[in-house]
Amino acid sequence: MAEGPILNRRDFLARAGFGGYSLIALADAAPQNAAPEPREPARPDFGRIAPPQAAFARTEPHLRLVDLETDVVVAGGGLAGVCAAIAAARHGARVVLLQDRSRLGGNSSSEVKMHVVGANQHTGRPGWREGGLIEELRLADAVNNPQRCWELWDLLLYDKVVSEPNITLLLETTLCSAAVRGGSITEVAARCDKSEHIYRIRARIFCDCTGDCRLGLEAGAEMRSGREARAEFGESLAPEKPDGLTLGSSILFTSRLYHNPMPFTAPKWARKIGKQQLLRRPVDSWEYGYWWIEWGGDHDIIGDNERIRFELLSIVLGVWDYIKNSGDCPDSEYWAMDWIGMMPGRRGGRRLAGDHVLTQQDLMSGRFEDAVAIGGWAMDAHPPEGFDRPDLPPNTTVSPPEVYDIPLRSLYSRNITNLFMAGRNISASYVAFTSARVMATCAVEGQAIGVAAAQCVASGIEPRALARDQGQVARLQEALLRDDQTIKGRPNRDPLDVARQATAIASAEAGSAKAALALDGFTRDIPDKRGDPVEVHHWAAPVSEGRPAWIELRWDKPRLLREVQITFDTGFRRQLTLSAQEVQNINLLRAPQPETVRDYTLTCRASDGGDRTLAVVKNNFQRLNRHHFDPVEAQSILVEVQATNGDPQARIFEIRCYA
Ligand SMILES: Cc1cc2nc3c(=O)[nH]c(=O)nc-3n(C[C@H](O)[C@H](O)[C@H](O)COP(=O)(O)OP(=O)(O)OC[C@H]3O[C@@H](n4cnc5c(N)ncnc54)[C@H](O)[C@@H]3O)c2cc1C
Repeated sequence: MAEGPILNRRDFLARAGFGGYSLIALADAAPQNAAPEPREPARPDFGRIAPPQAAFARTEPHLRLVDLETDVVVAGGGLAGVCAAIAAARHGARVVLLQDRSRLGGNSSSEVKMHVVGANQHTGRPGWREGGLIEELRLADAVNNPQRCWELWDLLLYDKVVSEPNITLLLETTLCSAAVRGGSITEVAARCDKSEHIYRIRARIFCDCTGDCRLGLEAGAEMRSGREARAEFGESLAPEKPDGLTLGSSILFTSRLYHNPMPFTAPKWARKIGKQQLLRRPVDSWEYGYWWIEWGGDHDIIGDNERIRFELLSIVLGVWDYIKNSGDCPDSEYWAMDWIGMMPGRRGGRRLAGDHVLTQQDLMSGRFEDAVAIGGWAMDAHPPEGFDRPDLPPNTTVSPPEVYDIPLRSLYSRNITNLFMAGRNISASYVAFTSARVMATCAVEGQAIGVAAAQCVASGIEPRALARDQGQVARLQEALLRDDQTIKGRPNRDPLDVARQATAIASAEAGSAKAALALDGFTRDIPDKRGDPVEVHHWAAPVSEGRPAWIELRWDKPRLLREVQITFDTGFRRQLTLSAQEVQNINLLRAPQPETVRDYTLTCRASDGGDRTLAVVKNNFQRLNRHHFDPVEAQSILVEVQATNGDPQARIFEIRCYA
């Protein structure tokens, strides 16, 4: 890339007519760290969830009954539920998050260890990592967990949730019933046998992120299961006739190379596996189990869970027995299993019916006015019998040509008026579900309904009223974009963002990465198939030790500012996930991403001519950073980048300013 001349800051200020723009008056605020949302550290209110005086429940005389009142209940703490809860809480709603296990993250937790994928299809669609909350989580995990420990991922999710003062987290607490009046959920019940409590929780808005539609089931929400007939939605990938089949569940394992031979003896109930069963399922690496050890899609995937666990364990152990003892894999001699899942990771199940059912056509070419998130994984069908069909490939995929929109109308219930949903249970045909079910997509759906739920609470409306009101939908989309959610083709049009009225100038502009692009409303480059930008939407300039890069926004008259947010580059062209599979780890970085600005200073020139430091940041690795400060009438603001995490260019996608 051709690079423009480098000006130092004083040159720039002189040229800009700022004469004696002296360096930095005292900061009003203490230097801020780079957390996207500065918040007071708060300890959860344990007295509220385990009040010693609570009476015993009438029906369960040994369990104490606790009444909770909140704005939003999120049932299910997989990635959809975690993102829904955090998003709603950050938008001001009080949230109760119910998770029936001791760990958050659903299939991505250490209990199942499924790596999170999404619109970028591992590396198949480079440039399309999602942004938003899932990006915040991925970046924090990559930096704090370079050792790839799954339990630290669990801990990160726990940390993020308990750090939100608006969230009451109830772990090991199962949502088990719902009371409905006039089509609306009034309260739900959940039980925690670990602490011997029953919770009765009243709320305005409820979110079903259980994957299994358990909340919808209890509330009497309309739902679908199985595969629709081709004719129902005109989907070429659907079977001729409808059936009750779905995707099977799986159990993964991990294994490690040791210094001496590691024997393995399978239990007697392990299946005997031979070459014939593995013709289409090669075992050429074994550090991360096999997603294709799948079973139960032709059974009751929920009701038969215990049988499915047994069959899956017997297949996993049989395959490992084959690897270790058949003689066909001599390289496995020094390898041993060091973990095996005990919980079938569920893929398929029920899907709630919304005002719109997302279909194959929508994924191939749909456009929605009420789009709130993107997906992009291939439609990825597996034989429901899974491993019991060795004659069939374990999956067949058809990829949408581009990332696709997910509309709000697929994220709330058709007949239960205050019920949102996100995750694998959204309103989708079976064919569309086989794409939208992957966890980064579930996460962005979760973020969308979290913000929508908070908006419903604040406006006193229900999900359908929100979706039918263009003004409310536009407000929701703006709020999501401000939080770094991607909505296909939609730029920032936020009328409150006064940066949009500013002019940008910079120390230099690298090639087409002009300063003005930090204000063009888009927060990602549009990549070609290799991940190279075909549309550039960032500013870039060289930076090196002692030669900072800077960008300045200037207004024709002073603007009142209380907040500046900056979106940096975090290398979307690479995938970023926690995976135990070596091949996935080759091209991803378990560290700060080198493109990301590391050290920077945010200053402003006030209307009285004085200069103020608004933020001094060291060791940043996040993409979206917000800086709040005491109000100032600013003529201009300046972001001075002293260092990146390795890249020779400083890059900024967007700067926003708010009163
Ligand atoms: C083996 C396997 C391979 C897969 N491959 C990939 C892949 O490579 N990458 C990818 O991204 N996705 C993959 N998927 C799909 C993906 O894991 C699921 O579709 C995804 O987990 C759905 O996310 P979710 O948040 O909707 O549900 P889940 O992850 O299932 O989370 C739902 C959570 O809700 C909790 N819950 C359920 N009922 C209740 C209740 N009544 N009360 C309280 N809590 C409740 C559950 O314990 C769970 O933690 C795979 C799935 C499997 C099984």
